[in-house]
Amino acid sequence: MLTIDNQAPAHFIRQIIANDLKDNKHNGKVATRFPPEPNGYLHIGHAKSICLNFGMAIENNGTCNLRFDDTNPEKESVEFMESIERDVHWLGFEWAGLYHASDYFEQLYNYAETLILAGNAYVDSLSAEQIRAYRGTLTEPGKESPDRNRPIEENLDLFRRMRAGEFADGHYVLRAKIDMASPNINMRDPALYRIRRVHHHRTGDSWCIYPMYDYTHCISDALEDITHSLCTLEFEDHRPLYDWVLDELKTPSHPQQIEFARLQLEYTIVSKRKLNQLVTEKHVSGWDDPRMPTIAGLRRAGFTPKAIRDFCERIGITKQNSWIEMGVLEHCIREDLNENSPRVMAVLQPLRVVIENYPGQQTEQLEISNHPQRPELGKRQVPFSKVVLIEQDDFSDNPPPKYKRLVEGGEVRLRGSYVIKCNEVIKDANGLVTELRCSYDPDTLGKNPESRKVKGVIHWVSEQHALSAEVRLYNRLFALPQPDNEENFLDALNPNSLEILTDCKVEASLANALPESRFQFERNGYFCLDKDSVDGKLVFNRTVTLRENWEKD
Ligand code: ATP
Ligand code: MG
Repeated sequence: MLTIDNQAPAHFIRQIIANDLKDNKHNGKVATRFPPEPNGYLHIGHAKSICLNFGMAIENNGTCNLRFDDTNPEKESVEFMESIERDVHWLGFEWAGLYHASDYFEQLYNYAETLILAGNAYVDSLSAEQIRAYRGTLTEPGKESPDRNRPIEENLDLFRRMRAGEFADGHYVLRAKIDMASPNINMRDPALYRIRRVHHHRTGDSWCIYPMYDYTHCISDALEDITHSLCTLEFEDHRPLYDWVLDELKTPSHPQQIEFARLQLEYTIVSKRKLNQLVTEKHVSGWDDPRMPTIAGLRRAGFTPKAIRDFCERIGITKQNSWIEMGVLEHCIREDLNENSPRVMAVLQPLRVVIENYPGQQTEQLEISNHPQRPELGKRQVPFSKVVLIEQDDFSDNPPPKYKRLVEGGEVRLRGSYVIKCNEVIKDANGLVTELRCSYDPDTLGKNPESRKVKGVIHWVSEQHALSAEVRLYNRLFALPQPDNEENFLDALNPNSLEILTDCKVEASLANALPESRFQFERNGYFCLDKDSVDGKLVFNRTVTLRENWEKD
């Protein structure tokens, strides 16, 4: 079980719950739920809701349920349910109970009969189109359906026959009888049930009528004895309906709905529907493509649960919609990986360096520490031999001012190893540098050379020991900060969101690394081993660059 930092910042929901506990409201209990619809994978916006709901429960010795809001069978699936359970667990949370709105279909049905019997619901034969036309607008009241005053007995009979499958899809709906003149359109006799012959991934074909979200949600909350039903701001106008249903049904428990602002994150999209479109139209490789803002995508990119929880705490909970900069999320993962990921050397664009005065058959195992600030993370052995590979960028035959890396006739230190000097530059017919002939100073292992200063330090791998790797450099999926505000969000896709380097070489110590292990590639960024790795070819995903605006020293 996670513990929550006592220093966590105050926010209005924390305050409401603290006051409720003080007043012994809800019998001094805190019970929350996270209620996703299994119609896609969870994204970073859901993480905000998960951290809030589970967080409030943990902080107050309460409980938090995971509940699938599965009342739209045509879009929902077992795959999505399983991914949601996996992602909530991975984020570090344990639910008290696992429920489905579909667990309550029978109870929901019985409650609907109760509403009918009390004259609070009626079966309407208006078509969907007519219902829309009758609904009115923000400035005009709605018009009552001719079926509104259908006798109770007839409503009951028709509703039972709806369930029995006697009518075609869409032929009737069950509506709440509230107020067609209400200034709140949600209160103008909202639909409670519709006829829809769709196979449900849990209840199969036992139902041909399905309850609507607003009707289902409040009753599910009440049946689970939820105390604080936390949802996003767009449900504020639905709260009167939430309360109306529970008041009319006199449910033993009446949860309190509290709304907070959705997360909107720049350079990405947080809508399952649009993410689904990215997947089905193959703009990305899948729901877990590392560019996706899904939990599965972030995980594959190398994000940690801790960084995501930290992000959710930092952005806070308010009632104002606002955009969060991607830099905030990146900052959280950098901070975690800087502290916790072991350092290794990887050369993404290799240039061959032959050390002419090093014995041909010799290999030395150099001990290099895994983390410069954390000696407790130990050391590893890194083989050094006559031919090493360095980054093409770490040599220049036309160096700009203050260039501290290798130049012809100059010296540089190989990280954790010796100082080398470049004596000769070999180029191909096109003038491209293909190899450097160098010499090393055997007296510089772990100490500075006498009588001269060598400023630059570069990373390297031993050619004969290095492992081949493919490195996938991910950039932001969208080129515009608010793709959702574009007419077509697909127009804002970043055409350069993925660059694949196929001829990379990484140090031998990575031979036994497991998928999902995370590393800092020295001087380069944070990388995570991908599940696509096979024998002879490791695959790494770049999680994030080392610094916000990455410049090489
Ligand atoms: P989407 O449009 O992505 O499907 P949703 O709100 O319809 O989002 P649900 O599966 O119904 O998705 O959401 C489950 C819970 O997560 C709800 O309580 C919802 O309010 C919350 N949630 C969804 N998106 C966000 C977000 N961007 N920020 C905060 N909470 C969110
Ligand atoms: Mg939804």
